Amino acid sequence: MTTSFEPGAPAPEGFIPLCVPRIQGNEWKYIKECLDSNFVSSVGPYVDRFERNVADYLRAKHAIAAVNGTAALHIALLLAGVKPGDEVLIPTLTFIAPVNAIRYVGAWPVFMDAEPDFWQMDPAKVEKFLLQECLWDGSELRNKATGRRIRAIVPVHILGHPTDMDPILEIAHRLNLRVIDDAAEALGAEYKGRKAGHLGDISCLSFNGNKVITTGGGGMIVTDDDALAKRAKYLTTQAKDDPVEYIHKEIGYNYRLTNIQAAMGCAQLEVLDDYVSAKRKIAKSYKNGLEAVNGITLMSEADWAFSSYWLSTILVDESQCRLDSRALRKQLNQKRIQSRPLWQPNHLSLAHLGAQSYEIDVAERLYSRAVSLPSSVSLTENEQDFVVKAIRSASLD
Ligand SMILES: *Cc1c(COP(=O)(O)O)cnc(C)c1O
Repeated sequence: MTTSFEPGAPAPEGFIPLCVPRIQGNEWKYIKECLDSNFVSSVGPYVDRFERNVADYLRAKHAIAAVNGTAALHIALLLAGVKPGDEVLIPTLTFIAPVNAIRYVGAWPVFMDAEPDFWQMDPAKVEKFLLQECLWDGSELRNKATGRRIRAIVPVHILGHPTDMDPILEIAHRLNLRVIDDAAEALGAEYKGRKAGHLGDISCLSFNGNKVITTGGGGMIVTDDDALAKRAKYLTTQAKDDPVEYIHKEIGYNYRLTNIQAAMGCAQLEVLDDYVSAKRKIAKSYKNGLEAVNGITLMSEADWAFSSYWLSTILVDESQCRLDSRALRKQLNQKRIQSRPLWQPNHLSLAHLGAQSYEIDVAERLYSRAVSLPSSVSLTENEQDFVVKAIRSASLD
């Protein structure tokens, strides 16, 4: 009998899990300090230290902690001046969080396709959409089809590989648009030597349990702009204008990270580069083991990129290897190997029904073919061997 389970849920006993945290460093020590000092909530030395350490790691001026990555994105969109009724370009092939955040500010997503090589938002289609489907009046850009103002672009670096940012930044700034990069899956990755999470005007990170490093739950807003950084802190702490008299001029949010979570983050950040090395090694072993298999394509890395390989992912072309991605996942499940499809492209999601999408076909093909494989930092060589053999025998027989 096989056990089945939700892809997002922890793997049952005996399964090789998709991606689990590894907690082996100073986490116990730093969290104990929080407990001993009574600094358990959203004020405390570790929040400041975690923010400083993340900013330094990214070579950014400011990092502002948030309660999770989705909240960080919500604040980033407010900072970018996205208003109700505006539109924001976003890849359709992403976890839904940044798309939902666009709706939280009352704006509308416009879904863009993925490029076929590295599966990120396609800069050529973004440029074509902005130049052919929109009208520039010298200060604002309007979508001809909807009449709405386009305000921002949110590239999402999926699976640990960065988006080709330069063409996106170039056209965005030419047309007075803000760029917010969602690096929730790509901490540790680089684009032309620059760190993912510090590639846009504002960037966002997540420290959810399955990300490269975790604080249990957490996020970060990253920017070099002093005024935006100040405003990010203001909005995440209930927009207090006078903290003594409790005077507020704006609606704020309770989005601060706690000192306990930040303590965990400081410990995890110390091992981030080792974790990325481990993930890259895992990706290389999958490549060695699977690249000769007919019909299987491995996620690759652009020559301008350094990928964190957050989740090693393969494409299964059913016209070449007898089974499709879903059938492969079933077989892996029978062998007690946890795997995952990509996310339903958001232009097909009922949650975002009615939003515009532009020339999408690559994203749907990737969605139907992709399978993410066990990629925990703690994955052993034996376990990985077992996964490789399982895929080989599944697709060859
Ligand atoms: C995980 C994730 C988020 C959301 O982060 P949370 O901390 O879970 O709110 C946002 N964007 C992407 C691409 C993600 O993978």
